Amino acid sequence: MQKTTGIHHITAMVNDAQRNIDFYAGVLGLRLIKKTINFDRPEVYHLYFGNERGEPGTVITFFPWAKQLKGRIGTGQVGVISFVIPVGSLPFWEHRLQKFGVEFQHSERFDERTILFNDPDGLQLELVERHEGTKNSWTFGGIQIENAIKGFGGATLISAQPSKTADVLENILGLECIGDEEGFLRFRTEENIGNIIDIKLSPSVRGLMGAGTVHHIAWRAKDEGDLLRWESLLKEKEFYPTEIRDRNYFKAVYFHEQGGILFEIATDPPGFSVDEPIDELGTKLMLPSWLESKRQELEEHLPSIEVRNLEGDK
Ligand code: ZN
Repeated sequence: MQKTTGIHHITAMVNDAQRNIDFYAGVLGLRLIKKTINFDRPEVYHLYFGNERGEPGTVITFFPWAKQLKGRIGTGQVGVISFVIPVGSLPFWEHRLQKFGVEFQHSERFDERTILFNDPDGLQLELVERHEGTKNSWTFGGIQIENAIKGFGGATLISAQPSKTADVLENILGLECIGDEEGFLRFRTEENIGNIIDIKLSPSVRGLMGAGTVHHIAWRAKDEGDLLRWESLLKEKEFYPTEIRDRNYFKAVYFHEQGGILFEIATDPPGFSVDEPIDELGTKLMLPSWLESKRQELEEHLPSIEVRNLEGDK
């Protein structure tokens, strides 16, 4: 059976591009690995953050659009996005969040202590300590390798039909169910990053798409052959996937699982160094070849944004 190795990326919608950069790069210390535009709506940025090499399993992406109405987190969406930090670094992060005025709560699930907080647009985030996952050598502000976010720990899915979503995770994507606790069903993959997925079993309000909500979660395919096999499996099981789309950094298909969540399957190759070298990732506005002729017009209309150190952060 075909198996995904876990989360490729998660994409969410927010209102303000600079505020988004100040939080994910400035406070959380992720690297802005790609500054591009929404290929389906070129007047909107598409910002990608990840570890130092922008590896699958570490990449969170955003469509920042000021006029977008606020959404509501609920069924048919990814709820909590979980980032994994090195064991022993939780006190560092509590201190750092406090310093930048981010309120957080402690929680515990499956014998792991976590802290929960919201980003400036209301997305629900979590930090969890794990030995798993390669350390991230991208350091920013007061963050050092020993406490830098390694990538995704995983995500919590809020499904309108949890048993149907569980079925897709197990029987289409090849995750293994490893238990349930206090209203959550837990799954894992064989990878060590972006590998733990929880399905919330208790009822939730219906999600409304908009700013402060996740648009979709993407799962990893090894290569295009792997993606083609999933495309035919999805067709055979009547999930009606989209055609394969070229996203420049990966190829992808999209489908709605029966719990209402938009799933994407995306190839690991070619990756984010396809159009700029690793040491320059995220420094320039990158456009796909078919939009290069519109560069000047696009650059004039997009707000100017920058990765910057927050005040008092060394
Ligand atoms: Zn995507």
